[in-house]
Amino acid sequence: MTLPVGLDLDGRRVVVVGGGPTVVPVVHDLLAARALVDLVAPWVCEDVAALAVRDEIGWHGREYAGCTDLLDAWLVVVGSDDVTTDTAAHTDAERLRTWSVAVPGTSSDTATARLPRTTVATTPDGAVTVATHSPDDLLALDVTRAVALHLETGGVDLRRRSPRPGTGWVALVGGGPGTDDLLTTRGRRLLAAADVVVADRLAPRAVLAHLPATVRVIDVGKEPGRHTVPQEAVNDLLVAEALAGRGVVRLKGGDPYVLGRGGEERLACEAHGIPVEVVPGVTSAVAVPAAAGIPVTHRGVARGFTVVTGHDELPAVPPGTDHTVVLLMGVGRLARSAAALLAAGRPADCPVAVIERGLLPDQRVTVGTLGDIAAAAAVVGVANPAVVVIGDVVRLAPDWDTIVHEVEPAHSERARSTSWSDPLRGRWVGAAVSR
Ligand code: SAH
Repeated sequence: MTLPVGLDLDGRRVVVVGGGPTVVPVVHDLLAARALVDLVAPWVCEDVAALAVRDEIGWHGREYAGCTDLLDAWLVVVGSDDVTTDTAAHTDAERLRTWSVAVPGTSSDTATARLPRTTVATTPDGAVTVATHSPDDLLALDVTRAVALHLETGGVDLRRRSPRPGTGWVALVGGGPGTDDLLTTRGRRLLAAADVVVADRLAPRAVLAHLPATVRVIDVGKEPGRHTVPQEAVNDLLVAEALAGRGVVRLKGGDPYVLGRGGEERLACEAHGIPVEVVPGVTSAVAVPAAAGIPVTHRGVARGFTVVTGHDELPAVPPGTDHTVVLLMGVGRLARSAAALLAAGRPADCPVAVIERGLLPDQRVTVGTLGDIAAAAAVVGVANPAVVVIGDVVRLAPDWDTIVHEVEPAHSERARSTSWSDPLRGRWVGAAVSR
């Protein structure tokens, strides 16, 4: 057994024996610890030479000369690629009562101390160094990597047990649309550190169930037309919780900055000096069409796309059907939006898809044209949340070719169902396509 210790090397002399690539990571760690590094080696690799040229280390360009090289050193780091030299350096250090370590990858049999494998975990409350000690270096490396992965994927509860003395923090986390597994790793990691989670209606709510019971979840879910919690009240809530010293995750659907009022929430927090991090999310504007098999751009079909709210009057958009228009919040005014695009020059046969509850088990796709989509949507009773895609790319949906595309009276509605498998979940995602 060994005793793990942390050495304060600030301003203290450390001698490194060897100058090849294996010593480079250790030399960088020594410099980060502000040690005074003297390196003895007849030749050095480029990285070490660069440090010597910049005077960040001292380099003695010769063979190791014995105990005299180690005088005044607090620590000796050995890794010369020559077993005789390494053994001599370890033995001399022991004679001088100076600890010696072998750089990873070289024999440590005669060393008197062991370097741990380390990883630095960043938490909202600061960095934490995790060090792993084992005589089996590969095992130490594997364990260290496993710990790092565990911390990074948010599987660990990193919340503070008591409120912070000063101001807390706010993270505006984009949760992606529909399913709960489009949340980013960064988002998960922050959720694991939050004291309070303020959740939207369209946020991936399934993740809330896995939070520790002590995390306070505040639901500010909004139904369209029924703004249960006004935006100003949400801003005030974030500010108040963070000023009370808490870590706050504002969990939103899609991306915080795509028609998500993330900018307003950030400014409100910053006005009170609260540190804010914005974590991008997968936006429904791109992911929900994709879930229906529609790429928003496609070579030779569409070179760009416009995302716009369908909640208000539409702004001018390129009239060509090779430019994709994506409407969010577009159900209520679908007829008026279609009429506006027709009036602005889009042809009546321009394909349109309405994807409701994208990436949820009951996702439904309704396809039509600018001329008839409003009628088709009314017949099947299209409801929020839904993404409307307008442009030639809709023809790339797997369902497009299998339906009749003449404009028909709305009452001759026909419904079709298609489904495709989700290999990760082993469940079936169904989509009814109606015309
Ligand atoms: N910031 C979000 C959008 C918020 S506006 C994002 O980047 O995705 C809310 C609108 O997003 C809804 O009216 C709907 O148009 C769309 N939306 C969000 N999730 C959806 C889903 N699972 N299926 C279909 N549309 C969705």
